[in-house]
Amino acid sequence: MVHIQFLGSGDAFGSGGRFQACILLRTELGQVLLDCGATSLVAMKQAGVDPLAIDAVIVSHLHGDHFGGIPFLVLDQQFARRSRPLLVAGPPGLAERLPRTMEALYPGSSTVERRYALRVIELDEGAATAVGPVMVTAFPVVHASGAPAYALRVTAGAATIAYSGDTEWTSSLVECAADSDVFICEGYVDERAVKFHLSAAALRANLARITAARLVLTHMSPEMLARPGAVPGAITAYDGMTLDLS
Ligand SMILES: [Zn+2]
Ligand SMILES: [Zn+2]
Repeated sequence: MVHIQFLGSGDAFGSGGRFQACILLRTELGQVLLDCGATSLVAMKQAGVDPLAIDAVIVSHLHGDHFGGIPFLVLDQQFARRSRPLLVAGPPGLAERLPRTMEALYPGSSTVERRYALRVIELDEGAATAVGPVMVTAFPVVHASGAPAYALRVTAGAATIAYSGDTEWTSSLVECAADSDVFICEGYVDERAVKFHLSAAALRANLARITAARLVLTHMSPEMLARPGAVPGAITAYDGMTLDLS
């Protein structure tokens, strides 16, 4: 049983007043965040989610609206007297970019002695890696972010959750989402082609290849928020939306 809660279903720019990318997975063995944008600590506290209960944060790529919330979470947990480890997993480069980002925002915060261990895991493409309570497989996607960008396939018990992160259409999404229980996918624009981002037109054209049981769109621009039926059969996520997988 996995309980999914969309804490942030927005794009980088707060379109529609939504928080940046952050999806909570509550599993029988623990809790994981998929992406942690700059606004995610606020989103968690607004939703009544206790950051102490988070075992791991898994990020798709190193853009601020997907990993920029980690420095705030790390600092918050220090003041909350966390004692158990916090795992942070993501693309190669994370172990270097995270402390650099922490230092830019709060000098000294990356080197200060903490009562809990902050463990960084860099994910290799194609290999299933244990990250706290889940297994994660990373698939390369097409999105420039100064480091590899990934779509993520997460398994928890019998449930499989696929997540596109940000990307233009690429066939690795088909593989990532194959026979999953839910494919959470960027739905950024409708007809327009925006480099490194997904359009509803591209999803419509490839819908028959996506074999996920459910398709959920997230990371919408204002144009997509105005067209909720742009991809037939897809659910449009909103902040606070929940989904239970058995
Ligand atoms: Zn983004
Ligand atoms: Zn991005």
